[in-house]
Amino acid sequence: MNNETLLSNLRNIPDFPIKGIQFKDVSTLFKNPKCLDIMVDEICEMYKDKGITKVVGIESRGFVIGAIVAHKLGAGFVMCRKAGKLPADTRKIAYEKEYGTDMIEIHSDAITEDDVVLLHDDLLATGGSMLAAYQLVQQFNPKATFINFIIELTIEGLNGRAAFPAKCDITALLRI
Ligand code: AMP
Repeated sequence: MNNETLLSNLRNIPDFPIKGIQFKDVSTLFKNPKCLDIMVDEICEMYKDKGITKVVGIESRGFVIGAIVAHKLGAGFVMCRKAGKLPADTRKIAYEKEYGTDMIEIHSDAITEDDVVLLHDDLLATGGSMLAAYQLVQQFNPKATFINFIIELTIEGLNGRAAFPAKCDITALLRI
């Protein structure tokens, strides 16, 4: 159920970065200690018995809560970054965006077949970026993969979940 404290502290910026987009600004949740507490607690409660060994955060807003949750779950934290930012050998995947393509990477030694992965990002819109991250993580053949967002956007006919294979386990703290 949507947490009222999170909902009331989330900032909406109309027409950012372009006209027509209602930008959900999670920085107002990150800066608020109570909201930080609620987000971390709710995610840890959902995943505490799943045997998570690695939390993979999507650059850059997925790094904030992802790293705290990893620490609380006793798991490691892995960065999924835009191309060219990681210094060691990487696995990569390209994906289509509204304008052109994008590439994301994870260090080749960051995930093993023994890992149970929790993928985390701030927001699910069309699902394009998380689907690419999910497919990239599958290249490592982990034991299991879970997906979590702070916000799932369902307004204006968005149904990002539909982009994922039916077997994917996807959760969100807020559905807006
Ligand atoms: P998508 O790949 O379409 O699911 O877009 C998700 C990514 O874009 C996330 O990393 C979000 O941070 C960002 N994003 C997309 N739409 C919004 C929005 N309305 N408000 C805030 N962030 C958004």
